[in-house]
Amino acid sequence: MLPYGRQSISEDDIAAVTAVLRGDWLTTGPAVTAFEQAVSELAGGHRAVSCTSGTAALHIAYAALGVGPGDEVITTPMTFVATASCAAMLGARVVFADVDYDTGLINPAAVDAALTERTRVVAAVDYAGQSADYDALQPLADRVGARTLADAAHSVGGSAGGRPVGDLADVTTMSFFPTKNLTTGEGGAVVCKDPVVGQRAHEFHFIGLVRDPSRFELTDEGPWHQEVHEYGVNYRLTDLGAALGLSQLARLAEFKRRRTEITARYNKAFADVDGLRTPVQRDGVDPMWHLYPIRVLGGRRREVFERMRAAGIGVQVNYIPVYWHPVFARQGYKRGLCPNAEQYYAEELSLPLFPALTDGDVDRVIETLVELVS
Ligand SMILES: *Cc1c(COP(=O)(O)O)cnc(C)c1O
Repeated sequence: MLPYGRQSISEDDIAAVTAVLRGDWLTTGPAVTAFEQAVSELAGGHRAVSCTSGTAALHIAYAALGVGPGDEVITTPMTFVATASCAAMLGARVVFADVDYDTGLINPAAVDAALTERTRVVAAVDYAGQSADYDALQPLADRVGARTLADAAHSVGGSAGGRPVGDLADVTTMSFFPTKNLTTGEGGAVVCKDPVVGQRAHEFHFIGLVRDPSRFELTDEGPWHQEVHEYGVNYRLTDLGAALGLSQLARLAEFKRRRTEITARYNKAFADVDGLRTPVQRDGVDPMWHLYPIRVLGGRRREVFERMRAAGIGVQVNYIPVYWHPVFARQGYKRGLCPNAEQYYAEELSLPLFPALTDGDVDRVIETLVELVS
């Protein structure tokens, strides 16, 4: 079965990880420091905190932004559940704003209509790898004193308006799961424009430990002393993962080039095929295409999914609207809440897209799909 996504591991990647195994630190050593520095440089120079997953990154980000009971977090239903569930776990009420039917990205007008004085965060998702419209979202959030969050699990390595992902929203979260744009095995990062939020993110992912003597409340314990002011968790990335990530970052431009090439090949092949709708790219965005979300029209998505799988092509569907998950549905979120997202979901099919896909693989996907729908 041709997978829909998979990691690309080079001999250099392997050498980078084995060098860590032979060294002195398995975790929270020089590789983590260097990886956080490199992620920061990729992401506009802001503080980067590495962590154990994209889900952990979202939990850290919402916690660092002070999200809690009484707050509302506005987000998109066209995402992986963690974008919403991590805010809900902290006690916030999640408010879903519908997406644009063309792009699957959160619609700023829908966000505008959902804003209240309780809105703490507006969390967009860079669906499929193109950035949401932060130029429109930021002033909306600012109006009520909320912060913007970019769930950039798909878009790491992309940019918009000449600014890199990481510089577009107040806080940006990344995932380094194997199918994503680069990998650390499991892993993620939080990038924060506000250094105070960045320090809170660091402490939350580091058990809440405060190590700066100038902030100590207990002052005569001794040189071993560290103390906790707020609860935290241990979401630290290992040096093994960080070394892999650092090596992968050196290959990110090459990954982007190949993902762009494959996307163009699909776009060209499907442009005039009845029954299919190719992805729509926003003006001014330079995406890092993570998914190739084609739309299958005429109510045939499920049939086409099953026949593609039967032909050995590992298609996927991204995503079931988040509020359809029983954990949200039981709280009273109703089907029909976000009609564009529901229609998008009903038609969406993610085709294989990863750097090692050959032109021959791509052509086989194209031929199989065109034959199925014609
Ligand atoms: C993958 C993903 C996450 C979660 O990342 P993990 O590393 O798998 O925990 C969150 N949001 C989106 C949009 C994702 O695609």
